[in-house]
Amino acid sequence: MENYLDLRNDNNYTKLEQAGKMIREGGLVLFPTETVYGIGANGLNEKAVKKIYEAKGRASDNPLILHIANFEMLPQIAQNISDIEKKLMKAFWPGPFTIILNRTKIVPDIVTAGLETVGIRMPSGIIAQKLIEYANVPIAAPSANISGRPSGTNLEDIYEELKDKMDFIINGGNTEVGLESTVVRVINGVPHILRPGKITAEDIENVVGTVEIDEHILHKTGEGQKILSPGMKYRHYAPNAKCILVFSKENNKLISKIKELSSEYKNPLIIAKNENLERLKGVQTIGMGNSLEEISKNIFTILRKVDNYHPDIVIIEGVEKEGLGLAIMNRLIRACEYNYIEIE
Ligand code: AMP
Ligand code: MG
Repeated sequence: MENYLDLRNDNNYTKLEQAGKMIREGGLVLFPTETVYGIGANGLNEKAVKKIYEAKGRASDNPLILHIANFEMLPQIAQNISDIEKKLMKAFWPGPFTIILNRTKIVPDIVTAGLETVGIRMPSGIIAQKLIEYANVPIAAPSANISGRPSGTNLEDIYEELKDKMDFIINGGNTEVGLESTVVRVINGVPHILRPGKITAEDIENVVGTVEIDEHILHKTGEGQKILSPGMKYRHYAPNAKCILVFSKENNKLISKIKELSSEYKNPLIIAKNENLERLKGVQTIGMGNSLEEISKNIFTILRKVDNYHPDIVIIEGVEKEGLGLAIMNRLIRACEYNYIEIE
């Protein structure tokens, strides 16, 4: 294919020049970042950004993140930046950290869904960085997936659903983190985590002393409730099958609960830590890894596979809601549409 670039075993990043040009000229480029794959477009070009919403079937009130390659690109799109915001950017950029700032006039309404703020991130992934440099404009990029589906963490997972909608496709293998960026907004001098990610509450607290975690991270948005991050109110990551998330700090209790639940169904599928699979023999299982880092990397690919098993129930083992575990639980609770059992 003409507009396909495989950089899995190739570090000749000058090959990204053509993709950068494609972005600048209004095309859509599928590319890897260190978090997940993104669908990128020229973030200052309204028409190009509109194509992202169309490709994903994304609700028009769900704003996009602008990606920059260096601090020189910032003043063009954000203004009135406070010292705390500067401190956070300095600490976590480049990296899996998005900050919500006051936007400038140049940022099209379609990027921010009409909000006066704009989400901005400087990715550390080398392909993303070089692509932005070659494009020489901020790249608007949501996660690469049809809206509601799990985000793409390798090209194979998303190729079929997106290939016909892209002008250029870059293969960078598996992404490093596997979960989308941490999204933070500073309100009255206090950073609020609107979406958890690899940069944890503890990381943020260590830099500026305080942090708040938005209640919608683990709880459903109530009717008519004001929500700081529009993306949090949508159905996300959920397979077609019914899913239940189960967690206990005590492994024995967790295993018995999973067994009890699965015995009520004909064709259950269990997604659990590898170290627990031995104890769950006799039913279909998928191992999700053991460490939080492994689970982050694997979980979206696993959620995409679930429906192939045609299960009548999917039981997913939860993790502690601490550190990176909070980000994993945020995604899993949504995948299970808030079906969550925690046993003391
Ligand atoms: P995605 O790029 O698909 O992973 O999603 C981006 C997330 O950032 C969504 O949850 C958005 O709602 C959120 N976001 C982007 N821009 C803003 C903004 N200006 N204010 C609040 N949340 C934002
Ligand atoms: Mg997304």
